[in-house]
Amino acid sequence: MTLSCFELGERMLSVDETLEALATMTPPPVATHRVSLASACGGVLAVEVMSPIDVPQNTNAAMDGIALAWPDDASASDMLVDVVGEVLAGTRLATSLAPGQAVRITTGAPLPAGADTVVMSEQLADVGNSGRVRVEQPERVRRGQNVRQAGEDIARGQRALSAGTRLRPQHLGLLASLGYAEIEVFRPLRVAVFSTGDEVMAPGASLPPAGIYDTNRFSLQGLLSRLGCEIIDLGILHDDLESMRVSLAAAVYEADMVVTSGGVSVGQADWVKPALTAIGELGLWRIAMRPGRPLAFGRIHKAGNATVPFFGLPGNPVAVMVTFLQFVQPMLRRMQGEHGWRPPRFTALAAEPLKSREGRVDFHRGIYTGDDAGQLWVRTTGRQGSGILSSMVAANCLIEIGDGRAAVEAGAPVTIQPFGDLT
Ligand code: AMP
Ligand code: MG
Repeated sequence: MTLSCFELGERMLSVDETLEALATMTPPPVATHRVSLASACGGVLAVEVMSPIDVPQNTNAAMDGIALAWPDDASASDMLVDVVGEVLAGTRLATSLAPGQAVRITTGAPLPAGADTVVMSEQLADVGNSGRVRVEQPERVRRGQNVRQAGEDIARGQRALSAGTRLRPQHLGLLASLGYAEIEVFRPLRVAVFSTGDEVMAPGASLPPAGIYDTNRFSLQGLLSRLGCEIIDLGILHDDLESMRVSLAAAVYEADMVVTSGGVSVGQADWVKPALTAIGELGLWRIAMRPGRPLAFGRIHKAGNATVPFFGLPGNPVAVMVTFLQFVQPMLRRMQGEHGWRPPRFTALAAEPLKSREGRVDFHRGIYTGDDAGQLWVRTTGRQGSGILSSMVAANCLIEIGDGRAAVEAGAPVTIQPFGDLT
């Protein structure tokens, strides 16, 4: 984190400027460790993976049938073939086939030397007990058909996966196909989460007349666990400067990042920013977006010169999720070693007029659908207050209306961020 980024302070930043600033303030990725392939799903690969073998290892049959050495006189009217043996999956034939000879073969079995074409069983007829088979409709047989070439998926020595890749099930399968039983990934990030507010009560307790159940700790834990983070649940903080200061300062000794919700505006009970400035530095906190204000980003000092990034998210439950998705998520992914992540974005047509304001980015909760012609349409979930969490439940995307637009007319194109891995 460079100090210059901590001079942005008072100015209202655009969403893009905020993302740029946060990128420069992101600590380097965490350390790496080796894990078994079975426990690597969701982790981020820490090394380039080169293939030690050809995949597939051998040129092999893509179908059950015969492997044929293409005859010299491939007459179109009648293709009779000498079947001289068989190769089952897991075996290899040492001898080589002469033109016009074939062996019975099962899917995946290596082609013997000389063979170059596989004809499927359904196309074969026995000719008495002669050991010969007739290929029916020989005009439909192409030399080289139904054969998988050695190395056609991945060649030996080729880069199979890049460092910084988040491992999904297909990556595990691919690593297994190269023979890797263990792999080097970045270790899980530990993220400390607090809620704040004297009115905020843990679910399970009875609700006092002026109380509200703690929503944010649970939506945040869900988001974090889907990102593969270890969560340090630090409960609910009272609206009190001293206890916040002490709790935040202690949290950094275990955590790679600290995230709070609530208490960041300029109300009488908003102590997060003063607590942060007492034990670290406030970076940015004025972002032109809705929902999402107020949000504070900074860093907390710990022993030596080390610091830990801190996000003070807004209190309203929708604002918490939107700001997490837009700002916390990219930083966490970088710290996890992931390269080049951006939220997926598509263009849809607005099925109804959408309210917005020039000079800020509006994130509505939306429902997108495709029509019969393949066109995407999006409408809002209805009321858009930043406390209406049922709008997130009903939605399948965020509608992102850029800061240059005052409103979106029905039928106009608009950007959507479909809900994905986290939501
Ligand atoms: P604040 O910024 O602390 O004033 O919070 C803004 C609004 O969000 C208030 O209505 C709070 O009651 C509400 N809020 C704050 N924290 C939470 C939470 N953890 N769960 C649900 N609502 C919250
Ligand atoms: Mg509060």
